[in-house]
Order: sequence, then C-alpha cells, then structure tokens
Amino acid sequence: MAGGDTCIFCKIAAGEIPATLVHEDPHLVAFQDIHPQAPTHLLVIPRKHIPSLNALAAEDTELMGRLVAEGARLAAEQNLSGTGYRLVVNCGEWAGQTVDHIHLHVLGGRRLGWPPG
Ligand code: AMP
Ligand code: ZN
Repeated sequence: MAGGDTCIFCKIAAGEIPATLVHEDPHLVAFQDIHPQAPTHLLVIPRKHIPSLNALAAEDTELMGRLVAEGARLAAEQNLSGTGYRLVVNCGEWAGQTVDHIHLHVLGGRRLGWPPG
C-alpha cells in the first residue's frame, strides 16, 4: 500500500505540497479540487492512507462516517443544502479513480446530470 512517501494526498495532508485547505481536523483534511468540475468542487480525505473503497477495513467505519458528515457540513457551509449537491467516491479504473487515496468529492453550485457519464 503506497503511503506518505509517494501519495500526493498524503503529502497534502502533511502540508508537504500546497493545496487550498477548507477544513483540517485530527482525522480529515478538505481542500479545493485543482480541476473543479462545478462551482463548488471540494475533496475530503482521511489522513489515514486508504487506497480505495476496496481496501476498507471494519476499523474504518467510524472514519468513513466522519468523511461523509464533513462533506455534508462543507456543502452546508457553501450554501448548497437548499439547491442540492453530490458526494461522490470513485473506486477503480472504470469509475475514473485517478488518485489512490480515498477521497470524497463535494460537487455543487450547478444542476448535476444523472446518470453520471
Ligand atoms: P478521482 O478521479 O476520483 O480519483 O479524483 C481525483 C481528483 O483529484 C481529481 O478531481 C483531480 O482534479 C484532483 N486532484 C489531483 N491532484 C490534485 C492536487 N494536487 N490538488 C487538488 N486536487 C487534485
Ligand atoms: Zn495517501
């Protein structure tokens, strides 16, 4: 499992490469996506390096709850609660996962199509 030495999101969590942070706590870091796909496009990550949903362990259940709750809190902070928003976790090649450290996309600020492409 790639960890802090090679993982770009571990490096962001450690402050070793820059990102526009919107939240930090002992468990999670959230920051602006570098290639936003909507007016609001944030990423929420656990500090723990977990490569994908495929690698979740039973001990990660509380952490994933924190991740989703933080995504919803950030959406509310961005005034998206009324219009709506989407929380997305891509897993694996066919879903378009490009960074092998679990991340929750927070997308909103425009009408989002369904089904996704
Ligand atoms: P995914 O395709 O679900 O793996 O999402 C990876 C996301 O990470 C993409 O939306 C990228 O734009 C974003 N991303 C990659 N590198 C960075 C970075 N250094 N800072 C912020 N976002 C990034
Ligand atoms: Zn990582």
